[in-house]
Amino acid sequence: GFKCGIVGLPNVGKSTLFNALTRTAAAQAANYPFCTIEPNTGEVAVPDPRMKLLAQAGKSKEIIPTRISFVDIAGLVRGASKGEGLGNKFLANIREVDAVVHVLRCFEDSDITHVEGRIDPVGDADTIETELMLADLESIERRLEQTRKRAASKDKESLTVLPVMEEVVKLLQDGKPARLLLKTLPPEEIAILKGLNLLTSHPVLYVCNVAEGDAATGNSFTAQVEKMAKDQGAECVIISAAIEAEVAQLPDEESQEFLAALGLEEAGLDRLIRAGYHLLDLITYFTVGPKETRAWTIKRGTKAPAAAGVIHSDFERGFIRAQTIAYEDYIALGGEVGAKEAGKARDEGKEYVVQDGDVLMFKFNT
Ligand code: GDP
Repeated sequence: GFKCGIVGLPNVGKSTLFNALTRTAAAQAANYPFCTIEPNTGEVAVPDPRMKLLAQAGKSKEIIPTRISFVDIAGLVRGASKGEGLGNKFLANIREVDAVVHVLRCFEDSDITHVEGRIDPVGDADTIETELMLADLESIERRLEQTRKRAASKDKESLTVLPVMEEVVKLLQDGKPARLLLKTLPPEEIAILKGLNLLTSHPVLYVCNVAEGDAATGNSFTAQVEKMAKDQGAECVIISAAIEAEVAQLPDEESQEFLAALGLEEAGLDRLIRAGYHLLDLITYFTVGPKETRAWTIKRGTKAPAAAGVIHSDFERGFIRAQTIAYEDYIALGGEVGAKEAGKARDEGKEYVVQDGDVLMFKFNT
């Protein structure tokens, strides 16, 4: 599955947020109770209002959402790249995720120590980014010499990897994260970049953790973070971890009232989960039948056979075609039969790139 790592300095609210996330997941997906894969990893249901309507139109008994994982990565402090705090263990954890959720403290509370002695979310972001960049620079410089030698002796792989490494080194030496290359490199080189296993090549989403009273409005700290995020082309979500921890424990109806009283339309966690999904560049397709309406996750750009493979490898191996109905057509025409009658059920083949919201039924050889 796809994983978002939650990072941040100590005492910014990471664990509070992670616990709220995993508790909500249990409530949202009864068929998939929150399961602890490892102590710090939790799978959460991705909220998607389309599923309810699909299940009505398709007369499904059950709704099964798709899920993504969040990993609570504790222990990053100034000096981590030199082994301070949990140092290397932290760095190993962060290598394994697909995207990073960076929690920044935007609340004041004299009872809760700030490790650097002041509330400064942009400074905190910089502290962590610097550690990650230092670790990357060291790791890549360590490999660079050997790759240069191999490239000089015409080793094919090294010849393709070397130019990407050189670009990364230039960026890092300039004090910039490797993820900036995600926007400029062609797809083949992005694959090489990912293969370098760096810490700063993951896309990043900032979470401003604010006091309860600031959840609806933000505050001067969140304004600073929003500006930074905008400059980096990153997304930013304002959340009060304390509120989310309470909401996660309430039944659905009560949580709506509780949120409304605070001037909030929906749980911050729902926004966070969706932002994480977006950050990972994931889209959803559906299967709808009398038994269940189910959401499936694929990377944007996935072709029909590989999309079928998410359900079962046999579906991919024996793929013939996919009956495809766009979500809007399925709902507007009252389900599969109506869509077929209106000529809105297409037969798509192996080259079809699955679109977000497609309702699919695969035909395959067994
Ligand atoms: P972590 O070290 O980043 O995982 O931070 P924790 O989640 O353990 O939170 C550190 C402390 O800050 C705990 O005592 C939390 O209850 C408290 N805390 C977390 N979020 C908020 C918040 O939004 N407002 C206030 N006042 N305290 C918070």
